[in-house]
Amino acid sequence: MQNREYGNLVAGEIRTSASRENTPDINPADTREVLGVFPSMTEDEVVEAVESAAEAFRAWKDLTPIARGAYLFQAANLFRDRAESIARDITREVGKTIKEARVEVANTANFFEYFAGFGRQPQGDHLPDERSGVFTYTQREPIGVVGLITPWNDPLLTTARKLAPALISGNTVVLKPAPDTPLAAWHLAEVFRDVELPGGVINTVTGSASMIGNVLLEHPAVNGISFTGSTRVGKELTRRAGERSELRIQTEMGGKNASLVLADADFAKSADTIVAGAFAQGGQRCTATSRVVVTEEAHGSLMETLVARTQDIRVGNGLDESTAMGPVVNQGQLDRILGAVERGKDEGGTVVAGGSRLTEDAYEHGYFVAPTVIDGVDPEAGVAQEEIFGPVLSVIRTSDLEEGVRIVNGTGYGLSASIFTENLAAAHYFARHAEAGNISVNLPTAGWSVHLPFGGFKDSGSAFKEQGREGLQFYTRVRTVAMNVTPR
Ligand code: ADP
Repeated sequence: MQNREYGNLVAGEIRTSASRENTPDINPADTREVLGVFPSMTEDEVVEAVESAAEAFRAWKDLTPIARGAYLFQAANLFRDRAESIARDITREVGKTIKEARVEVANTANFFEYFAGFGRQPQGDHLPDERSGVFTYTQREPIGVVGLITPWNDPLLTTARKLAPALISGNTVVLKPAPDTPLAAWHLAEVFRDVELPGGVINTVTGSASMIGNVLLEHPAVNGISFTGSTRVGKELTRRAGERSELRIQTEMGGKNASLVLADADFAKSADTIVAGAFAQGGQRCTATSRVVVTEEAHGSLMETLVARTQDIRVGNGLDESTAMGPVVNQGQLDRILGAVERGKDEGGTVVAGGSRLTEDAYEHGYFVAPTVIDGVDPEAGVAQEEIFGPVLSVIRTSDLEEGVRIVNGTGYGLSASIFTENLAAAHYFARHAEAGNISVNLPTAGWSVHLPFGGFKDSGSAFKEQGREGLQFYTRVRTVAMNVTPR
C-alpha cells in the first residue's frame, strides 16, 4: 500500500515540498508500520513559512486578545472531540501507552483553554507617575514571529505549552516538530485550520533540523525561539541566538532528576511513586526520575518493593489497554539506553531489574527495553551524571539528608527533584536547598499541571519559565507609556 503523503501548513494551505524528498514516520512498537511520509522542505520553503508568519502578524496582533482567545477555546473543544483518534496516533507514532496519550491530549486541550482565559485578563498595569497630570501605564505586547522547536516525547503537549501562550499574546508561529513525530504536529495544524485560524498564524515546517534551525536563527523577522530538547542543542542555539539582540530564546533542556528517600518515609508508597516517575513513558520525559538517593537505613526496605514493582511492569504495544510501558522511540534511543546500562555495570553498578532489550515474540519488531534498576551506583559515575532518557533508574546510597541533598545537586542539571519523608523540617530543608525548578514532596519528580510555572535551573533551562502566568513573559515585551494629560 502506498504510504499517505502529508504536507505542511503554510500560509493557511497544506503544501508539499518541491524537494520531492520524504521522511517516513515509523511506529516504534512495530517498525514495519509506516504511519505516513512527511516532506523535507527546502530552505526557500522554510523562509516562505517565516514570511507568511510575518505577514499574518500584522493583523493577528491587532485582534483583541478576547478574539484570539476565542480561537483557542474552540481548539480546546476540537481536541476534546478528537481525543481518542489523536491519542491513538500519538501512541502509534511515539510508542507511549494509550492511557498516557489520552492524558497528553487532555492536557493539550487544557493548555489552550487555560491560556485562552488570559484574553480577558489585564494586559498591563496602570502606574502612578511622580509628575502630576501624567497618566502612565504599561502595555504587554507580542514579540513577533516565534519559532517553536519541539521534541518527540510529548509531541502534542510540548507544542501546546508553547503555542497557547504564543498565540494568546498575539505572536505568529513557525513550528518545527521533531523528526520522529510530525503526525502530532499535523493534528495540531488540522485543528487550527478547522477552527479557521487566519492563514499564516501557525505554519509547520518539516525537514532538516539544522537548516530549519539556521533559518529561524538568522531570519530578521523571527524574534523568539522556544526550544525543548537536549542540553547540547539548546546551548548551541542559545549561543547563536546571542548574536542577534532582537532574538530571545527559551530553552527547556535535559534533566537528571532525583528522588531522595529518608528512613522515615513510607517505603511501599515511595517505591510505587518512584517507579511511576521513573518508568512512565519508558522514562522518556525530561522530568522522569533517573536517580534514587536513599539513606543506608532505608535502602533494604525500599529496594524490596522498588525491584518487585519494576519487574511487574507490563511492557508491550501501547495500543493494548493493559500495557504499562511501551517501546522507546527509535534505534538511536535504544542504542543509547543499552549503552548506558553497560556503562553502569562497568562503573561498578549492579543490575537488579531488567538490563536488556526485549526481542521475543511480540517484541520482535519494536524497540522494547526492560525497565531497569541499577543499584550501588557511585554519584559521580557517568550513569548517574548523564541524561539517559529511557527506562533506567540508578540507585545511590547516602548517609543523611544533608549529604543526600548534595548528591541530588551534584549534576549539571536542575529540572525536578523530590523527597520522600514524613518529617516536615526535612521537607522544608529539601524545598529550600535542592537546586531544581520543580520540587515535590512525597510525589513523583514528574507531573505538572498547565497552570503551574515549569522550568529548570542550571543546564536544564533558561530564565524564561513555561506554563502558568509566568509562561506569558517569553512571548511578550513591555512598553511603558507616560502621557501628559493636564488640561490646557
Ligand atoms: P532529542 O535528543 O530529545 O531528540 P534534540 O535536542 O536532538 O533532542 O531534538 C529536539 C528538537 O531540536 C528536535 O525537534 C530536533 O529536530 C531539533 N534540533 C536538533 N538539532 C537542531 C539544530 N541544529 N537546530 C534546530 N533544531 C534542532
